[in-house]
Amino acid sequence: MKIFKINTPEFKIDGGAYFGVIPKMIWEKHYPADKNNMCDASCRSLLIDDGKRIFLIDTGIGNKFCDNLKKDYFINNKEDLEKNIYALGYKPEEITDVILTHLHFDHCGGTTKISNTTGNLELTFPNAIHHISSSQWDNALNPNYREKSSYLKENFELLSDSGKLKLTDKNTYISENIELRIFNGHTSGLMLPVIHTESRTLFFAGDLIPAKASIPLAWISAYDVFPLTSIEEKNKLLQEAVINNWVLLFQHDYYNECCTLQKTDRGIRVQETFSFEEFAL
Ligand SMILES: [Zn+2]
Repeated sequence: MKIFKINTPEFKIDGGAYFGVIPKMIWEKHYPADKNNMCDASCRSLLIDDGKRIFLIDTGIGNKFCDNLKKDYFINNKEDLEKNIYALGYKPEEITDVILTHLHFDHCGGTTKISNTTGNLELTFPNAIHHISSSQWDNALNPNYREKSSYLKENFELLSDSGKLKLTDKNTYISENIELRIFNGHTSGLMLPVIHTESRTLFFAGDLIPAKASIPLAWISAYDVFPLTSIEEKNKLLQEAVINNWVLLFQHDYYNECCTLQKTDRGIRVQETFSFEEFAL
């Protein structure tokens, strides 16, 4: 099994929103902000080739964002999902499975694109089955007022009648090595992959634990719809991860990609951080 990290367009998140109730004088020691209080954020995806199927986990912000979104979130185009897939020697048509952790714009924007030939919206990965949790799908189609602005229908609506949508309502294995776990604190039906390689288990921590600084239980993002559920889910996951020596991959941490964990007197904390390349060795 081969696993590759794919960088997609980066953006900035308001530091207060990123770290919720944690005061700035504490969080800024761990995660710097600019003069507008904005923090740099990565959007990492993974491509997994198990020899039979080619999986893509999340599609980032994409490149069809409107000017307002681009300005509000300081989105830059330095990274490009499709270009980075080609650079690895794969083609978008070869992706067999797209796993969307959820449908907030920074996780599924690259799922559709404007066609160069027709100018119409089309699926970026036309041959892939797109895996989404059923509760997330329902939530995105009928959004609550809190999450409404994070769901941009042009990112996912095309999947409805495509025959390429597979909804999942419980924890499941979608291949021998890839397990999908459902969480409900950040949003209903956040679906995060646990990837079992021959030597290690890698947890794609997504928006459950977006950055290294989010590991302590109280460090919950203000974007989380049910923060107390997030704390419970994070606690359970961290216990399992530390016991089994899992590696965590941070999707949004601009400064850290992967870590292992250890038990300390203050709770579970980072043992060691390292790059994805070091994990993949
Ligand atoms: Zn996110």
